[in-house]
Amino acid sequence: MSAYQALVDIVGSDRVSEDLVERYLYSRDSGAQPAGQADYVVLPKTVEEVQQVLRLANSRNIPVTPLGGGLSLSGLVVPRRGGIVLDMKRMDRILEVDEMNRYALIEAGVSQGALREYLKQHHPRFQHSTPEAPPTATVTGNALIQGHGHISPRYGVNSDMIGGMEVVLPTGEITRIGSCSLDEKWFTKGPMPDLAGLFVGWYGTTGVATKLSLKIFPKPAFREVMAFQTDAVDLLPEAISEVMYLDMAEDFFLIMQEKPDWMNHAFLVVIVSGHFKEEIELKKSAYKNLFKNFHGGQPIGFVRDLHPALEKRFLDVPPLAALAADFREGGGFQYTGAILSVDQVPAAWHRGIEIAHQYDMICSYVHQVLQGNSVMFGFNYSFNRGDEKDIERARMALEDSNRVTLELGGMIWKGERPAQQMVLEKMDPNTAGLIKRVKALLDPNGIMNPGNWEVP
Ligand SMILES: Cc1cc2nc3c(=O)[nH]c(=O)nc-3n(C[C@H](O)[C@H](O)[C@H](O)COP(=O)(O)OP(=O)(O)OC[C@H]3O[C@@H](n4cnc5c(N)ncnc54)[C@H](O)[C@@H]3O)c2cc1C
Repeated sequence: MSAYQALVDIVGSDRVSEDLVERYLYSRDSGAQPAGQADYVVLPKTVEEVQQVLRLANSRNIPVTPLGGGLSLSGLVVPRRGGIVLDMKRMDRILEVDEMNRYALIEAGVSQGALREYLKQHHPRFQHSTPEAPPTATVTGNALIQGHGHISPRYGVNSDMIGGMEVVLPTGEITRIGSCSLDEKWFTKGPMPDLAGLFVGWYGTTGVATKLSLKIFPKPAFREVMAFQTDAVDLLPEAISEVMYLDMAEDFFLIMQEKPDWMNHAFLVVIVSGHFKEEIELKKSAYKNLFKNFHGGQPIGFVRDLHPALEKRFLDVPPLAALAADFREGGGFQYTGAILSVDQVPAAWHRGIEIAHQYDMICSYVHQVLQGNSVMFGFNYSFNRGDEKDIERARMALEDSNRVTLELGGMIWKGERPAQQMVLEKMDPNTAGLIKRVKALLDPNGIMNPGNWEVP
């Protein structure tokens, strides 16, 4: 039987396609990485269907690329060696929200927007950590790539918020991770060997997550935004460190963009929140005083009249901080997400400007501070998707900013395949060897998202 017919037998003809147009759409993302070529697009609805699809693929050596919202931008969902794109969006049920034990149990295709709206309507005192990604991005895809949301500066990155997982291995077996492997409660993934690590950060190369439990957090009644402005880039590490030391910020990010001219400074945007108005006033005055007295009060100024439109943008959940302006008028966008230690911010800042200018780009940064010890430093590049030369320029800028990230002792977040290779080349060989062994154990036929994390 043909693979197509076997897939039809599993999911029905309306949830599998080998149509050229659909395969075209599933063969690329909006980043600068080259397209692949999907052979089949499959949209499972149940865990049993995922099991059967993986068993089929494993027995016939057909590559499988899991897809959430497809918004990670770095080619991680591009089927590099053909095969099946497994689009998880039909597995979109929110199965349980447990306020008392603070978790939401969802299927893997639930989008950020759907969970946010569901909580707003049914559990308005709670929220989840929401990335700034478009709302069609999936909660699971984001947690699996160690993404970060609007409360990450306070509570940690979104993979830290996983309380349990159900995963289908390439062989079709189901594994449950955390308390849900003992009982129907999905509130914690410890204390036991942390098997979530076999799937988090692997870009779908070790299995397909079908359910995820995610921590939820209190949603304070009051939120306000404060902005500070400076050109003293060399003082940013100390400023970041002091803001985080006070431990009163819900969200904290830095932005800078060369155009328009008024944006060409470092802006520190601090979101404070609280259950009581008095709490907010106290936090605001603490941050104002911090910078009033910082290095004699000169270098970092409070922005008194933040434009209401900007204020709204920053207070939205998620905040619209990304300045992914379509400078090239062609809709392409990709960024190096450099996870850097705080002390390296000025060096990255200066090197980033050099790279942008070398490739004739407008420099544009957004950095979110993650729990005080690191920064997600975004070197953003927009490009014209219709212009091969422009795409190539973006690729070269990405390559340079990936290299700079590693030179500065940083980590590359959700790196495209060439970036992954750079990381593997720099990595301690024993660590790379362990990655290779774990991968061979879980995916002996190498069917899962091939091309990613390939240790030579
Ligand atoms: C304007 C903009 C702003 C952004 N801001 C943020 C931000 O603030 N924070 C942030 O974290 N990200 C941000 N992003 C990046 C990205 O969009 C998000 O991280 C997004 O949540 C990724 O989720 P996704 O569902 O699109 O993942 P996908 O791109 O679909 O998948 C990501 C990876 O996970 C794998 N995968 C997906 N689902 C499964 C599954 N069920 N089982 C196994 N593997 C799976 C895929 O194969 C792929 O390797 C932003 C992107 C844009 C365009």
